[in-house]
Amino acid sequence: MSLLVKGGIVVGATGTQPADVLVEGEKIVAVLDPAYSQTVQADELIDATGKYVIPGGIDAHTHMELPFGGTAASDTFETGTRAAAWGGTTTIIDFAVQRTGEVVQDGLAAWHAKADGNCHIDYAFHMILGGVDDDALKAMDQLVADEGITSFKLFMAYPGVFYSDDGQILRAMQTARENGAMIMMHAENGIAIDVLVQQALARGETDPIYHGITRPAALEAEATNRAISLAEVARDCPLYIVHLSASQALEHVAVARDNGRNVFAETCPQYLYLTLEDQLGAPGFEGAKWVCSTPLRSKHEPHAKDLWKGLRSNDLAIVSTDHCPFCMKDQKELGRGDFSKIPNGIGGVEHRVDLIYQGVVDGQLSLERWVETIATTPARMFGLYPQKGVIQPGSDADLVVYDPNGTTRISAETHHMNMDHSAYEGFEISGRVDKVISRGSVIVADGNYHGRKGHGRYLRRGLSSYLV
Ligand SMILES: [Zn+2]
Repeated sequence: MSLLVKGGIVVGATGTQPADVLVEGEKIVAVLDPAYSQTVQADELIDATGKYVIPGGIDAHTHMELPFGGTAASDTFETGTRAAAWGGTTTIIDFAVQRTGEVVQDGLAAWHAKADGNCHIDYAFHMILGGVDDDALKAMDQLVADEGITSFKLFMAYPGVFYSDDGQILRAMQTARENGAMIMMHAENGIAIDVLVQQALARGETDPIYHGITRPAALEAEATNRAISLAEVARDCPLYIVHLSASQALEHVAVARDNGRNVFAETCPQYLYLTLEDQLGAPGFEGAKWVCSTPLRSKHEPHAKDLWKGLRSNDLAIVSTDHCPFCMKDQKELGRGDFSKIPNGIGGVEHRVDLIYQGVVDGQLSLERWVETIATTPARMFGLYPQKGVIQPGSDADLVVYDPNGTTRISAETHHMNMDHSAYEGFEISGRVDKVISRGSVIVADGNYHGRKGHGRYLRRGLSSYLV
């Protein structure tokens, strides 16, 4: 079965050109000068005239069905990967979880059981380590060698839940330095934050906005800097800061990178578009929709502007979503009267490609940088390149035909995520996902869905391409 995507403008991290893409089975077999593709016979033709053709999006940070705060993220692997596909994302890297006291491999097996046979698009796993001890360190080696899991997430936040102390972090970093894995860090000083939370609650400050106020930028910056220092001590262990939201934290990453360190970071659309005052501070309990950690930052400070700048300068390498949806009903509502009991997370896996394309429209990013931050760099960072993240012969035929003249209106009424609200309700994007192809199969076309659960396969990852 062959497929020719014809007449489009192929956009990649390194350039933009009119080209036709020939797919045979699940792979791209040729990227052709349009003048030479006239003679090519294909079983199926996709007309991409006037549209961009980009590699399928890779969301390197999702939490399908994550148990959190007495409930679980509301998207299953089935609903979440289907929503991702609708939005032009053809690969997710989700976080398998080792809870404190649990065997790492058991946590991984549980994640495979949730995902296996249920995904609409390809998927891979990072591993969350909830308890770094001798067994967990051995498990890191085993996962890198045998399971295709080459990145491990630690938490400087959430004492008593996922928290690792500095000694545990250092040991995991030393192990990663040896086996080539990446350490991913939730960088917030959770011990200090818990004090601020208790003080706020004691003062009767229970509304959602206090979730943000008790997690100040200084404590994200402090933890980011500490993680960078610990990684330095671990002989420059590769370090990736997740969901970076604050200018002050970005500054630490920028300095480390200027010094040639193996330090990388991502941000998420919520930190580029949403704020402490306008969303988290919405009247009544409404702000609960936007409770996530790290929190939304103040619009009176230059965070969002700095984050866009960081994306341009590559101090921020990737945009991921940290997709972790909870419904208002029965989930976010658990924190009515106590913001600390609101499940942390925002759903956005469906909207990342569009929201960052809006950055192109707004003059924040080039077209090439859009593709790089949403697809190519995630593939290279996490050992999926060149199978994913690039349009070239031999790569998987994961393609998005993107219509720059279309518009996307985001609403809970029309989205496909299992959420009873949208964090981006009413947003209008000057662009639209027209068609989505996953390993050679057209799964979204002209507003219709043609994918199926079970099409998505587990991806064993190699080491990051960025390490020296
Ligand atoms: Zn996360």
